[in-house]
Amino acid sequence: MEGAEIAAITHGHSLGYMPAAVLTHIINRIVFSEERISLKSIILEAKDTVAKVSRGDKHLKELTDIIGLGIAHYCSLRHQNDFSDGVIAVVNHKGDSDSTGTVTGNILGALLEFDAIEERWKTNLELIDVMIEMADDFCHGCQIHEFGHYEDPDWRRKYIYMRWKDEKLDIAEKTQFIAVRGDITKDHGVQAIVNAANTSLLGGGGVDGAIHRAAGSELLAECRLLNGCKTGQAKITKAYKLPCEYVIHTPGPHWNGGKSKEAELLASCYRSCLELAVENGIKKIAFPSIATGIYSYPLDQAAEIAVKTVKEFVVNHPGELNVIKWVLFDDTTLRAYEAQIERWTVS
Ligand code: ADP
Repeated sequence: MEGAEIAAITHGHSLGYMPAAVLTHIINRIVFSEERISLKSIILEAKDTVAKVSRGDKHLKELTDIIGLGIAHYCSLRHQNDFSDGVIAVVNHKGDSDSTGTVTGNILGALLEFDAIEERWKTNLELIDVMIEMADDFCHGCQIHEFGHYEDPDWRRKYIYMRWKDEKLDIAEKTQFIAVRGDITKDHGVQAIVNAANTSLLGGGGVDGAIHRAAGSELLAECRLLNGCKTGQAKITKAYKLPCEYVIHTPGPHWNGGKSKEAELLASCYRSCLELAVENGIKKIAFPSIATGIYSYPLDQAAEIAVKTVKEFVVNHPGELNVIKWVLFDDTTLRAYEAQIERWTVS
């Protein structure tokens, strides 16, 4: 079914996505079955499976006919010991020869394996190195689990950041991610600091109070003109007496057990701040730990969202930001951000 779901992204018709499910089924059985099953049994099994999962579909008969009589399946069966004969036969048959050639090539390739494919098919194949690497990755399987601890920087680069040995990623890797313990109102060598504000933008407790105190009353005067700010969004002001040029104000989400889109809103805070930074030519920026004080966001989760969101932004805006610094008030918070920075650094 995963094969069908992925194909349905581009082919929203059952005659488009169900054959993809069939091919996925066949390849999966050839590659991963523990016992040796004949290709004929696998194709018949795929036919039964598609009939079951497509029950009620008005194209069911066409679907099962395609599988039963499909020229790609016929040529795969007829030439199951010779990749070249199978592919040549299928593309010379009338029909959509690029598709039938691909299906037959996939089936025979999985069945006979890479070394059995004649060299002439491989020499001029575009992106062959990428294909081999992806095929190896998929067979090996990714061990990264959403809630686990195993990390694989290569997988993260390729399949999470979608970057294939890409210059953009090399540039993004030059952005420094730093966590320090300290008071964000002091000089940290950045052009902008972020304020974990509230939606009124008129000052409050915690880091918000400290920033307003250090900036002086002119900051409050400018904030009054801004008409507040929604949770997850951001607004920019000058920094007045603070040792930087700008303050970017962003109201984080109140923690409400995780059921009120807190994660989305917190990620949006970081993205909104960085968008404003890029628009204003800010290359060096310092964040506090947004939402983990008065707003009670669980620290480890907040740190993960913070670093992951900023990293993704940096990868998608290569060369725009030079330094991302988290200035954190206590050791526990510092450790949480340090751990996430280490985790999200692609080596
Ligand atoms: P929120 O309302 O978004 O939770 P808080 O200001 O209450 O914001 O807390 C956010 C984080 O900022 C907390 O970890 C808090 O300890 C820290 N903090 C408070 N004052 C400062 C400061 N001057 N510099 C850096 N961090 C600070």
